[in-house]
Amino acid sequence: MARYTGPVCRLCRREGEKLFLKGDRCYSDKCAMEKRPYPPGQAGKKRPRESEYRIQLREKQKTKRMYGMLEKQFRSYYEEANRQQGITGENLLRLLETRLDNVVFRLGFAKSRSEARQIVRHGHIQVNGKRVDIPSYRVRPGDMVAIAPKAKDLLVIKAAIISSERSTVPGWLEVDIEKLQGSVISLPTRDQIDLTVKENLIVELYSK
Ligand code: SF4
Repeated sequence: MARYTGPVCRLCRREGEKLFLKGDRCYSDKCAMEKRPYPPGQAGKKRPRESEYRIQLREKQKTKRMYGMLEKQFRSYYEEANRQQGITGENLLRLLETRLDNVVFRLGFAKSRSEARQIVRHGHIQVNGKRVDIPSYRVRPGDMVAIAPKAKDLLVIKAAIISSERSTVPGWLEVDIEKLQGSVISLPTRDQIDLTVKENLIVELYSK
């Protein structure tokens, strides 16, 4: 699956808020949003014209970038969310949250979603005892997500666990740091998804 490979701090500056795409750096004074909290480019410091469309677009772009996706893939998540029963915006966030790469990140086994994606792709993650190397794999309640035995000593995972001490695992997941495994207790509800996203704006944009 294609992914964005350009400079990620530009994305935060474009959206005007921290999207936490770089792990430890995001919490340090090296964060580009601390040093240059305005959009990139020559017109960066000028205030853009606010329109309904622009506000909806920015909300969609921000969410898409948080999860490290390109338009086609993000849109297909929206379409699936729209086919499901319930509130489309919440369905969309639930689908995004239950991706395996996001779960690895939320459990604290990676410093960022992009790092989690690499860890999954390299075959370091098992679901219910079997290797799964597909970042978009969707977890279900009752699933056990674990670091594969051969990967338990990887520095990248050890470093992530140290830095994850500052964040809490959401209520729909449970982690056992000693065993380097976590379980999916339930599907996430909206209040368990800690994102500053107004998902209704994304739905309004796509349903035009
Ligand atoms: Fe965004 Fe992190 Fe870069 Fe700061 S360091 S601009 S939060 S990706």
